[in-house]
Amino acid sequence: MKKIKLLLLLVFPLGALASLNIINTPVPGGVAVVDFYTDHSNPEAYYRQARVYVQQLEGQHWQALIGIPLLEKIGEKHLTIKDFSNKKIAFKVKNHNYKEQHITLTGKKKKYLNPNLAHLDRIKRERPILSKARKVFSNKKLSNKNFIRPVDGITTSPFGFKRFFNGKARRAHSGLDYAGKTGTPIKAAAAGKIIISDDFFFNGNAVFIDHGQGLISVYIHLNKRLVESGQIIKQGDIIGTIGQTGRATGPHLHFGVYLNQTVINPNVLLK
Ligand code: ZN
Repeated sequence: MKKIKLLLLLVFPLGALASLNIINTPVPGGVAVVDFYTDHSNPEAYYRQARVYVQQLEGQHWQALIGIPLLEKIGEKHLTIKDFSNKKIAFKVKNHNYKEQHITLTGKKKKYLNPNLAHLDRIKRERPILSKARKVFSNKKLSNKNFIRPVDGITTSPFGFKRFFNGKARRAHSGLDYAGKTGTPIKAAAAGKIIISDDFFFNGNAVFIDHGQGLISVYIHLNKRLVESGQIIKQGDIIGTIGQTGRATGPHLHFGVYLNQTVINPNVLLK
């Protein structure tokens, strides 16, 4: 017993139970932090059919971290807890206005605006691979720590911007862009397992990391990928270098985070 306690202290030196420290941001693209109580040892929580990240704070006190879709309507929503019964917990999603961003693609990069048939074929082939990666849900938490910044550079494009490429409306910006020179090493934001390390049409060289319970971080437009799919990594391990592969107008890191299959603002997870 004593040995186990000592081991726990070594693993989680901050005392208490190690858990993610997230500020409640119940807006589209944010994270709703919803507390609940159960004496079930392994409760499951669901939002819009997707399983949600849960953490035990103390005894019967649990917390669900719900990623809110960027296109979610404001108003009252429900989280379903599956323990000994199905109970619903109400929470509110509030409004947040994201700014517009206009980007101009020129020369070779114009193919990302008007992909040809071969490109469309490739996009179609890649879509289910990326979709499957976003749906990964490992029961085991592979990390209990908040994220560290993958690179030091300034943020050149914040999360959630409503984007227009050469005047055409496209999906909102699904992550943070950090400026940096080509070849700058990129650190894993937290410990986990590599889900994907591959080359895609829009993303270019991309790495996806599973941190457990539907928490996934993604790193795209890399110059080099330095990890393999299936590899276990620690927080801070170098996974690749900054580049401008795929739909990028200059060298930068696009850093994205998924929770319950929903893209959220990575700042919520950062220390
Ligand atoms: Zn980006």
